[in-house]
Amino acid sequence: MVKIRLPDGIEKTYRENTTVGQIARDLGESCYRKAVAGKTNGTLVDLSFPLTKDTTLSVITEDTPEGLDILRHSTAHIMAQAVQRLFPEAELGIGPTIENGFYYDFRLERPLTQEDLEKIEAEMGKIIKEDLAFQRQLFPRQEAITRMEEIRQPFKVELLKDIEEETVSLYTQGEFLDLCRGPHLFTTGRAGAFKLLNVAGAYWRGKETNPMLQRIYGTAFFSKEKLDEYLHLLEEAKKRDHRKLGRELDLYSFREECGPGLVLWHPKGARIRNVIERFWSEEHYKRGYEIVYSPHIAKASLWHTSGHWDFYRQSMFAPFELETSQYLVKPMNCPFAVLIFKSDMRSYRDLPIRFAELGTVYRYERSGVLHGLLRVRGFTQDDAHIFCTPEQLEGEIVGVINLAQYMLSSFGFKEYEIELAVRGKGEKDKYIGSDGNWELAETALRRALESKDLPFVVGEGEAKFYGPSIDIRIKDALGRGWQGPTIQVDFNLPERFDVNYIGPDGKEHKVVMIHRTVLGALERFLGCLIEHYGGAFPLWIAPVQVKILTIKDTHADYAHSLKTRLEEKGIRVQCDLRNATVGYKIREGRTEKVPYLLIIGDKEVEEGTVSLRSREKGDEGRLPPDALLARLEREVRERL
Ligand SMILES: [Zn+2]
Ligand SMILES: [Zn+2]
Repeated sequence: MVKIRLPDGIEKTYRENTTVGQIARDLGESCYRKAVAGKTNGTLVDLSFPLTKDTTLSVITEDTPEGLDILRHSTAHIMAQAVQRLFPEAELGIGPTIENGFYYDFRLERPLTQEDLEKIEAEMGKIIKEDLAFQRQLFPRQEAITRMEEIRQPFKVELLKDIEEETVSLYTQGEFLDLCRGPHLFTTGRAGAFKLLNVAGAYWRGKETNPMLQRIYGTAFFSKEKLDEYLHLLEEAKKRDHRKLGRELDLYSFREECGPGLVLWHPKGARIRNVIERFWSEEHYKRGYEIVYSPHIAKASLWHTSGHWDFYRQSMFAPFELETSQYLVKPMNCPFAVLIFKSDMRSYRDLPIRFAELGTVYRYERSGVLHGLLRVRGFTQDDAHIFCTPEQLEGEIVGVINLAQYMLSSFGFKEYEIELAVRGKGEKDKYIGSDGNWELAETALRRALESKDLPFVVGEGEAKFYGPSIDIRIKDALGRGWQGPTIQVDFNLPERFDVNYIGPDGKEHKVVMIHRTVLGALERFLGCLIEHYGGAFPLWIAPVQVKILTIKDTHADYAHSLKTRLEEKGIRVQCDLRNATVGYKIREGRTEKVPYLLIIGDKEVEEGTVSLRSREKGDEGRLPPDALLARLEREVRERL
């Protein structure tokens, strides 16, 4: 007999070799129907797994992330089987699950087409109907290699040769054989709704000297509704892709002549950036920050002292010589803030000192990972460095969180996922700084979050070697996560640069340093904003807030005087006086996603009014310019 301990603490005994599936059935029909796999002593196993010794057991059901992962993983196997049926010469790479789906890599004689994907989907449908069991078999590694050689799967042979264990598991479903740890669904018939999404090239094992394989991406859900929901989201995301909208709205570009990953901000993108920067500056001044500026290059010796040269060199551009010194382009702004702090003797009465900087930094990224505005080689951090006493730490962190919440909610980001990254247990020698300091900083970060009533998870062992941090992900309008604010305590730079203040005792004390960003890189934040708003920026951010459209040439004078009047109040206005139909001009204004279009015809000139078309409501009728101005000013002020 084996004794099973269930998650609720209940213990049951079963005959030896009872399978997880049989136990799930014993626990109730509803449990069995939703069962996908089991977890024994923390390890995921198939439903067909026989239990031979006492263990803890939880049944993994469809409604858990692990259950969904197993579904997607099993669907990847089904896809590989379908590919092999249609392309018997196919050589299989790997087929893991990823966020939101799965992929599988294949070497094939020709590139796959959209039609091929449809055929593969149809074949997958057949395999699911055949309801083939996923069967696990253990083999000595050498025997598994022989079998994979027999069926001409060189990539699998290569993988097997790298495995250290002497026993490996192979899975079959019908005629299909694969190397895998499992677990999988009980049978192919238990697969849910799936969709193959696209094909992309991928080097075997990600190495550019290896053969190029074809990677088929797909996704799967237990219900058709969930799949449709996700596909709709993908459609939405595609429409909102900041690379597409950035081009259509003429916000920015990358030019081959300039170099990859280096952004050129066009006037409209620069307008948006300018609005954000002004908002940023105002909020920082209001909250007791001082804004500073620092150079883009500095002597290499500075980066030796800071440690960047030792620990960050692979992300820095090569040094160059000026006169007799080596120089480097800055990958971070931190050392400059330290130098400004050290330009004077600081007393405890001067603290906290908060230096904020929109500092442009340059980091080397492989060209393959560059992605629109999200991964670039030059970007502007909304950086700040706070120097304070240990006692001030908690208050400073609360201040940063308040600022971050205020700024982010102004852009409509109100949902966060927060991680508190702390030291790992029992690995104290991995970290610099005293035990006392770490405890103090971790407590300060934790208490700051608690005092703000913000839920967070603790990432044990996730802290950088020089201090604990708070990392916040924000959720956009489609519910997708983006990297948001970070608050990083640093015990390292104050040591390296010997940064001190004079305490009440008249002696020198090491300062506590915080690095923090609220928006992150402005480039990435703008990329995120474009997708969050789908390019339809709210009035206060919109690069062009109002567009005046004339019906005839004779309305031009009135349009000009109206433009001047609005501009005097700080409204960003464009006139479209072209000799085109007003219908055409309206359509263009809508494509440009301008919040307000003002149409000027005979009637409006005669009455001294404007006809208002808003992006959200369409035609709103005629109104006097004063009423319009009052409305615009209120919307801008309240950031609606
Ligand atoms: Zn598998
Ligand atoms: Zn910093």
